[in-house]
Amino acid sequence: MINSHIHLDFDLVKSPSKTTTGVVVPSTGKENWDNVINFCSSDNNRHFALGIHPWFIDDHQMLDLHSLEVRIEDEKPVAVGECGLDYIKVKDRNKQRYFFDEQVALATRFDLPLIIHSVQATEDVTDLLKSYSKSRGVIHAYSGSLQEAEILMKLGFLFGFSHNLSNPHAYKLHDIVKFLPLESILIETDDHNNPDELIQIAERVARIKKITVEQVIKQCDQNACKLFNLD
Ligand SMILES: [Zn+2]
Repeated sequence: MINSHIHLDFDLVKSPSKTTTGVVVPSTGKENWDNVINFCSSDNNRHFALGIHPWFIDDHQMLDLHSLEVRIEDEKPVAVGECGLDYIKVKDRNKQRYFFDEQVALATRFDLPLIIHSVQATEDVTDLLKSYSKSRGVIHAYSGSLQEAEILMKLGFLFGFSHNLSNPHAYKLHDIVKFLPLESILIETDDHNNPDELIQIAERVARIKKITVEQVIKQCDQNACKLFNLD
């Protein structure tokens, strides 16, 4: 079972459960690029992504985008991310749009998928992705609407679901999972420290889609392998 988004380099995040066979570890900015690279170097089942998270853009300058480009070229991450737009936590919309735009351009240039953080910004995220016809990737911890999911799905993007889905009252999210084909779904635990959460999310997807948890895990693993080009 592959965890498509886990910040294993964070102190609070514990090791994944024994049933986790692979992980994708996104970075948040230049401060932890080395950490995620080192963290994944000793294990073939750990894969890192390099990017600048919108929460940390104030710690970055335009020059850092050039460093990111160099690191991507040298280190061969499985994705660019996490990057994106967060209109709740980050006030400066222009700066985050600039950094996101540049990272989508980088991903397109290196033919890599994107790991996207989008909070109250799905419309702008979608508009930006539309302007890059070759962009692809996952909207992690998806929190947009069903209508927005439909548009992103048609653009070929995948959707990551985490602990929010386990809430029995998260009706909106459950409807989105019901609507999406299983081929568009990834499971993840993000920055949570409960290693058993991944299986709980897979179980919730299975219950919503009225299929077995084995089917969910098998297909979500295939989706992750295909998107991130994992062996
Ligand atoms: Zn994250």
